[in-house]
Amino acid sequence: MNNYELWQSTLAQIELSISKANFSTWFQNTEITSRDNERVIISVPNAFSKEWLSNKYYKVILKIIRDADPLVRELEFTIKPQSKAAPTRDIPEAEKVSIEQQLKFEELKVNKETNLNPRYTFENFIVGSFNELSYAAGLAVSENPGHVYNPLFIYGGVGLGKTHLMQAIGNKIVEQNKKSKVRYITSEKLISGIITAIRSNTMDAFKASLAPIDVLIIDDVQFIAGKIKTQEEFFHVFNSLYEKNKQIILSSDKPPNAIPELEERLRSRFEGGMISDVSLPDYETRLVILKSKLQEKNIKLPDDILEYIASNVKKNIRELEGALNSLLIYYKINNTVPNIETAKKLLKGFVFSPFDVANYKKIIETVAKFYNLEEKHLFNETRRKEIVKPRQVAMFLLRKELKYSFPAIARKFGGKDHTTVIYAYKKILQESEQNHKLIEELNLIKQRVYSG
Ligand code: ADP
Ligand code: MG
Repeated sequence: MNNYELWQSTLAQIELSISKANFSTWFQNTEITSRDNERVIISVPNAFSKEWLSNKYYKVILKIIRDADPLVRELEFTIKPQSKAAPTRDIPEAEKVSIEQQLKFEELKVNKETNLNPRYTFENFIVGSFNELSYAAGLAVSENPGHVYNPLFIYGGVGLGKTHLMQAIGNKIVEQNKKSKVRYITSEKLISGIITAIRSNTMDAFKASLAPIDVLIIDDVQFIAGKIKTQEEFFHVFNSLYEKNKQIILSSDKPPNAIPELEERLRSRFEGGMISDVSLPDYETRLVILKSKLQEKNIKLPDDILEYIASNVKKNIRELEGALNSLLIYYKINNTVPNIETAKKLLKGFVFSPFDVANYKKIIETVAKFYNLEEKHLFNETRRKEIVKPRQVAMFLLRKELKYSFPAIARKFGGKDHTTVIYAYKKILQESEQNHKLIEELNLIKQRVYSG
């Protein structure tokens, strides 16, 4: 993404979470003027905006930008008096907000107690065959927390609705029972909480703070892989809630048995309830998602554009939303719907051709990452089990997905005898017909390879 696209997609997401008036007040005439890897410089029209944005929106903006580019670590706001460079928008008088109103405004409306964002609900969650099991399980849990599936473990690739679904469950539970104590915690927060508690010798207080919770939601739990101390403490937190029939909901990018370096006892806890996945929506469902998002915003786009997005933006639902939002921003700035040609240009950053996606490098990179190895390890002359299998999987996928010849694969792997490659291929092929864990792993790896 270039600076312009990055900022447009950031604006698109901010716009979802704040009022229209606030959005126009604080974000008009802003742009990313430059970026090195770690720092993004955002120009704003005056000192007031600068102060407001850096106090109130710093974290939100940084988070959204980091989702797109994790290398970014800080933001800097600079004042750039109005010039023709930045596209200006005229804001109707009615949309301007008074200072009092602005001061009342709460950042992103995230509930301080629960950490839940009210915009994630079941009502705006589209269900299709790609996520219906998780949806059904989530709904059941929300109706009877602690008593149906405990824990509920939802896994799948990024941008496929895990956070949305878990938060929808939380929101529904609170809506039905105001007294219910729901807490949503990202696993980064959980890890840092535990580490701080260990360092400052306040583990008891930390655990006590979680004890009254009725529903604990931990997002992206795969990040506790390899964190021994965190796992140990979390195991106790988990048990004490579980024993009291408190609901635990977890998400991860892979199923428990594929999370590397996860303590056995924790893995078996994670597997003790319901495990369900979210996968990629098909074309029809992508179209439904687009239409429902448009309806929420009360805006129409012509069918040819929607079909173009649905057939070309396949990576995940977040990208689908991003694509839509960049068209909506165009619409707002220019006050007219883009035609298909313009739309195609605006959507360039979201569209991948299959040939860009699945290639040698991508397969090696994805396999290594999936098994928590460095790429070079795949090429090691070792018989260590934790490397042999990923290497065989890589060989298998090169053959199966890219139709590489066996000798070509052998050459890539340091001139091995091509019968070794044939052996690897057959072994994985055979195993993938019976071994569920392997089937799942191959599916997840393929999903990632093809999602760009
Ligand atoms: P994940 O946590 O799996 O990375 P998110 O829950 O953050 O994904 O979803 C990414 C974006 O896509 C969010 O804005 C979310 O609202 C939207 N989204 C995901 N799944 C659905 C769905 N089934 N229906 C409607 N919107 C969805
Ligand atoms: Mg998420």
